[in-house]
Amino acid sequence: MAAVLCIANQKGGVGKTTTAVNLASSLAHLKKRVLLVDLDPQGNATMGSGVSKLDLERSVYEVLLGLADIKDVRQRPTVIQFDILPANRELSAAEVEMVNLERRNKRLKEALDEVKEEYDLILIDCPPALSLLTLNAFCAADGVIIPMQCEYFALEGLSDLLNTVRHVHSNMNASINNIGLLLLRVMFDKRVTLSLHVSEQLEKHFGKRVLKTVIPRNVRMAEAPSYGLPGVDFDPSSKGAKAYMECAKELLASLKMA
Ligand code: ATP
Ligand code: MG
Repeated sequence: MAAVLCIANQKGGVGKTTTAVNLASSLAHLKKRVLLVDLDPQGNATMGSGVSKLDLERSVYEVLLGLADIKDVRQRPTVIQFDILPANRELSAAEVEMVNLERRNKRLKEALDEVKEEYDLILIDCPPALSLLTLNAFCAADGVIIPMQCEYFALEGLSDLLNTVRHVHSNMNASINNIGLLLLRVMFDKRVTLSLHVSEQLEKHFGKRVLKTVIPRNVRMAEAPSYGLPGVDFDPSSKGAKAYMECAKELLASLKMA
């Protein structure tokens, strides 16, 4: 039965998608069966996995609205080792259309329950908002990975995110604490004193919740999506790729799945 982890942070551009795509691929290289769910209308995880968001016949949108079976919508592009449940801008309509549906918070969970047996890990790339889509991810999750840049404003908004997770835990999905919160430092530049300082603060406040692996800023990670490849496949020898592989190993060890 798969462990479900969402990659969330309502701040935009903090490295959620890069983390989701590269962890999915790293875990697949470590022989885990992985499904990556793109839950962002921007469709960046879809493109970054080598699937054209413009050519989708069906996407996670139809799955959420009950118009298609998840098993018919997920894809396995030839260039990657994991399955992807793709998204495109159509998904932004789901937000509005789901409001009147029954069990609107649990639509994604119910779909994932149908395929959970087939995977070791399911990763969900969330949009940069604490929206109904993100709530669906939280309601399906055993834990949340929060990518963070170690900058002055990094902690801003974190309390809203933590409160939302707490609310979900108390009222909608107690399983979110099976794994709970994991903070991942990304786009790290160790030459910047402020980054070192914020990083220390995170460790002080969150202790074991901070993953030991730190993902450095590395241009190869930024170049990879334009080739429709995860960074770890685009340039496995790059510092960014090695860090994501390390992070995947750390994650598996902490989940006792190594
Ligand atoms: P959004 O909130 O819009 O969904 P996001 O949180 O998913 O954004 P990404 O798209 O993963 O963030 O990353 C934002 C930008 O930073 C992208 O251009 C990406 O290529 C770049 N980036 C991410 N991680 C790294 C890294 N380790 N080194 C260099 N660039 C990175
Ligand atoms: Mg993104």
